[in-house]
Amino acid sequence: MVLFGSPGSGKGTQAKYLVKWLGIPQISTGDMLREHVRNGTELGKAIEARMKAGQLVPDRLVNELVFERLHRPDCRHGCILDGYPRTPEQATELMGFLEGTEMTEVVIHLVVDYNVIISRMAGRRVCPQCGTLYNAISNRPAKEGLCDLDGAGLMVRDDDRADVVRARLDEYEALTRPVIESFRKAGVKLFQVNASDQGPQAIFETIRKDLETSGLAGKELVGR
Ligand code: AMP
Repeated sequence: MVLFGSPGSGKGTQAKYLVKWLGIPQISTGDMLREHVRNGTELGKAIEARMKAGQLVPDRLVNELVFERLHRPDCRHGCILDGYPRTPEQATELMGFLEGTEMTEVVIHLVVDYNVIISRMAGRRVCPQCGTLYNAISNRPAKEGLCDLDGAGLMVRDDDRADVVRARLDEYEALTRPVIESFRKAGVKLFQVNASDQGPQAIFETIRKDLETSGLAGKELVGR
């Protein structure tokens, strides 16, 4: 399952709901790449500057990381891709990879208004310890500035700063939006979900209904 949408469209939040519902893992390329940067690996050092500037990491590096992850046993019943593919080249590679497996792709496109994204991302905070996301407007922690789960002080991610947010949205328009066209051309199952005006739970219910009524998330998937 590909969760697709611009930065700030709520992919990470929906991924958490879907993981709980379907019992399949979330694969967030952003999280994987940030972990490499944090651990100072060779890959981490090579991509750090691009990540800080909100620019995409080269396709070859991301594809390798994702395909290695998809081969692991916990993905044999499927997984939720959060933040991948992000270029038509990545989409083509993914479709090619899946052809050789029993998996098929379903794309959920979270559609959000530009201004809504800007205001959402301005309020975004993250727990540096467990990665839980909060929002100063729509999803506040119980205690101001502290993570509900481990009490760590919340932070603004480097790439959530206003100037970087704009760079990320520009890059999304130029490089990532065309991915939807690649999926459409390839006849991939695609659901568009209005994610501007509803809260996260309501958005999840819409996704669930779409998947259930199309028979894509029936008994064979749910409750693993
Ligand atoms: P995210 O947490 O998904 O917003 O990703 C944070 C950053 O990681 C992005 O701004 C990119 O620098 C990098 N990144 C994540 N996923 C990809 C991808 N599929 N292709 C290229 N770069 C990526």
